[in-house]
Amino acid sequence: PYEFEGKAAIVTGGASGIGRAAANRLASDGASVVVADIDRDGGESVVDGIESSGGEATFVETDVSSESSVKNLVDTTLETYGSLDMAFNNAGIEGDNEPTVDQTVDNWDRVVDVNMKGVWLCLKHEIRAMLEGEGGAIVNTSSISGQTGAGAAPYVATKHGILGLTRTAAVETAQDDIRVNAVCPGTIDTPLSQRFQEKTPEAFEQFVEMHPMGRLGEPEEIADAVAWLLSEEASFATGDMFQIDGGYMAL
Ligand code: NAD
Repeated sequence: PYEFEGKAAIVTGGASGIGRAAANRLASDGASVVVADIDRDGGESVVDGIESSGGEATFVETDVSSESSVKNLVDTTLETYGSLDMAFNNAGIEGDNEPTVDQTVDNWDRVVDVNMKGVWLCLKHEIRAMLEGEGGAIVNTSSISGQTGAGAAPYVATKHGILGLTRTAAVETAQDDIRVNAVCPGTIDTPLSQRFQEKTPEAFEQFVEMHPMGRLGEPEEIADAVAWLLSEEASFATGDMFQIDGGYMAL
């Protein structure tokens, strides 16, 4: 466990999958966790779970694609816990899995708004709060799709874009005691990948086989890396991207 006692953390997309595992992990290491999601029921059940194991958490209904909603998230965190020390900008959607020639503008706009504008808006307001406070650490969720063409165009483009946002924010804040990194998960067993499996089972199986370990990752295996990146132990890591992908990028 890391020493997160007395620290406040935001986790977007915290109601499900990787975000839920990270919220649980940060809380079990002592952080006060703000679970941010559009899914109120899911988010409140994560908070209940944390509280029933003796941890501290709050749910704030948040749409990361809306600036007023993200500002409210950061303001509520500061009002509730007095500081913002850590953030995991992880909310994301897969969108329609169609080839480029069949993609619609509506789907493009929706995926870009949530996945990429959402991360930028979170960075903007979180960094402001950290600059006024005592610095902090941030992790964004990219993907193996952030470095390859594996996936539909809007999804792949946003996951590449998140690496750019990560690097810019890291350079801008490197002398302000703020670190900004990205995780690039391989295929992880979550509702997102389960939807992919239901829609196109054969493509999904092929995809899993492209991971040399021959299995899906567990959300907790990403949460472990996120916790390390947010901890003091990662004190020289900024602007970096961390593969946790069962060997996918090594092929
Ligand atoms: P998930 O669907 O289980 O969880 C995503 C969460 O984000 C949900 O709770 C959802 O309600 C929330 N969300 C969606 N739109 C939102 C919005 N506008 N504002 C706030 N919250 C919103 O998916 P997951 O697999 O846990 O994915 C988490 C992140 O990991 C995503 O960014 C995804 O692209 C990325 N990722 C997932 C995989 C995988 O295989 N599962 C692989 C690489 C990267």
